Amino acid sequence: LRGVVALDGPSGTGKSTVSRKLAAALGATYLDTGAMYRAVTLAVLRAGVDPADAVEVTRVARAAELSMGTDPLAPGVRLDGAEVEGEIRGPEVTGAVSAVSAVAEVRELLVALQRELIGRAMTEPGGMVVEGRDIGTVVVPDAGLKVYLTASAEARAARRTAQDASDGRRSDLRSTHADVQRRDALDSGRKVAPLRQADDAVEVDSTDLDIHGVLEQLIKLVES
Ligand code: C5P
Repeated sequence: LRGVVALDGPSGTGKSTVSRKLAAALGATYLDTGAMYRAVTLAVLRAGVDPADAVEVTRVARAAELSMGTDPLAPGVRLDGAEVEGEIRGPEVTGAVSAVSAVAEVRELLVALQRELIGRAMTEPGGMVVEGRDIGTVVVPDAGLKVYLTASAEARAARRTAQDASDGRRSDLRSTHADVQRRDALDSGRKVAPLRQADDAVEVDSTDLDIHGVLEQLIKLVES
């Protein structure tokens, strides 16, 4: 792969798993931008700041030191020097991340950091798979391939519940379904960089496909 594959879409589509597998299959690096918004959200919660307080959230975001692993086999994210991969997937962060990611200054800061990481990756062979909500629309509008991964709300809730169970977190289908819908509404309805499909993105619907089926389609798209 040369250049960037931008992989966007709502939560629970299998985006992270597929992005990592795609990067590994292509010998590319990988950037999980959702982990960056999650890590800032963790910093906000640790500081005892209200996620809806844009001024305080911005202050915490500016002070936070993020470091992103870009190896698809062991990505990992560090906040102020410590690994936080487990903590950023928990319900507290998941519940607050949409509010934090709606703050314009947070997005400015993280988009700049993302472009820096992508720029650095472009100096090496192999390209990069970048996943998020606004990669094809904002972060890398000239990406070589843009994919918008979708699935029905039911399929996404079922996947999130299964993922939670395999990570050892308790969750039930009904509340996960409600959470997925709430987060999609917030991510799509926010003023800055709302979740939407880029005009030139290829839509891949994963409702009736397993991970291998999706991966197969993506590899075909990269090679076409
Ligand atoms: O992908 P993931 O579910 O980890 O993302 C967590 C949250 O981070 C999303 O619900 C969204 O609010 C935010 N996000 C974003 N822009 C991105 C990636 C994630 O706003 N590029």
